[in-house]
Amino acid sequence: MDFVLSEEQTLIIETVRRFVDEELVPYEDEVEADNAVRPELIEQIHRRAIEVGLYAANMPEELGGGGLDALTIALMEIELGRTAFALQYAVARPSNILRACKGEQIERYLLPTIRGERVECLAMTEPQAGSDLRSMKTRAKRDGDHYVINGTKHFISYADVADYAILFAASGIQDTPRGPRSLITSFLVDKGIPRFEVKLGSESVSHRGFHHCELVFENCRIHESQILGDEHKGFDVANKWLGTTRLTVAAQCIGRARRVMDMAAEWAATRQQFGQTIGKFQGTSFKLADMATEIEAAELLVLRAADLETREAAQDQDFAMAKLYATEMLGRVTDNALQVFGGMGLMKELPIERFWRDARVERIWDGTSEIQRHIISRSLLRPFEN
Ligand SMILES: Cc1cc2nc3c(=O)[nH]c(=O)nc-3n(C[C@H](O)[C@H](O)[C@H](O)COP(=O)(O)OP(=O)(O)OC[C@H]3O[C@@H](n4cnc5c(N)ncnc54)[C@H](O)[C@@H]3O)c2cc1C
Repeated sequence: MDFVLSEEQTLIIETVRRFVDEELVPYEDEVEADNAVRPELIEQIHRRAIEVGLYAANMPEELGGGGLDALTIALMEIELGRTAFALQYAVARPSNILRACKGEQIERYLLPTIRGERVECLAMTEPQAGSDLRSMKTRAKRDGDHYVINGTKHFISYADVADYAILFAASGIQDTPRGPRSLITSFLVDKGIPRFEVKLGSESVSHRGFHHCELVFENCRIHESQILGDEHKGFDVANKWLGTTRLTVAAQCIGRARRVMDMAAEWAATRQQFGQTIGKFQGTSFKLADMATEIEAAELLVLRAADLETREAAQDQDFAMAKLYATEMLGRVTDNALQVFGGMGLMKELPIERFWRDARVERIWDGTSEIQRHIISRSLLRPFEN
């Protein structure tokens, strides 16, 4: 792995950092107070991100995207992670899974999403199927050249803003030596079609302004041309394209942790107790030392996985290790930073309690810490299986 950044990467980091400071950070308090990002503000962020070339940076250049490789995207995500999740999300990096679009889907979904004209959301989780996605109850039953969809998805991020959903549904059953197993198909489903309802989900303590929704399908008919990938091969498409989503989560944790650590360091260097700054007490300064060390370690894991992905050599456990360590690191860093701030850390006047709350979801979404450990341990034990 080459630790020297190219000129282009350095320039991108500087551009994103400036963009975050000028275009996003000034709106953090507003988003926090309103628990919403105004549609005009989303529009403004879209426009400005397109102007500076940050929009759809992960998509291939020939399709109108930024054409950045996984390593450079990770560097960009670290910077974007410094601000409120709801704000940085408007600097869209369309889901890589859209690269599976074919035929008319390219004109209807992929290209308009890269241009910023359409926005997608990804609908997998259900009330009874979280970590165990294959147990999903949403059914897609074939009826001629259509499918009839029935079921409910929940926790679907951004479905309130999105124009369409990438929906995963059980489309059949396969007999395996371990018993019957659901076959899953992925569909592109436009919001606004009959018998597909989107309801705002309950309020989360993490990432105010970034909402999740319930998606309800009642005998909703979808044409077979809406299948993303191939029938019954939904998880193949997901496995091929969604690994890097975990890397995005991990990379953003680094940016956020660094911002919190900087605030804690400044507080430790200025807050006085017992006639001296609290940073002079080892109980405080060692916390800062641990934060800095863990952030660097997490960054190495993220950049390593991103570098492997750039060279098409990454495996599931590389993403899992990066996500596991970076999200757990952020939990420790925000908690220790709050401790350094003392009582003030819990007050709404300062953003520390927000970072502390925001950190919590990172260990849950995109696969919980336990599921990441499961992936890592399976990769260690697999060679010993008969
Ligand atoms: C704010 C938010 C936004 C989200 N956005 C989306 C989205 O856009 N699209 C989407 O599809 N999903 C989304 N999710 C869902 C998210 O991915 C799930 O919450 C997550 O996968 C965990 O599922 P669960 O909440 O049902 O928990 P469960 O699966 O019920 O897990 C509960 C606990 O059991 C543990 N557990 C479960 N299975 C095992 C096992 N095999 N070994 C060890 N421990 C285990 C878990 O680690 C966890 O600690 C979102 C969730 C949240 C909170």
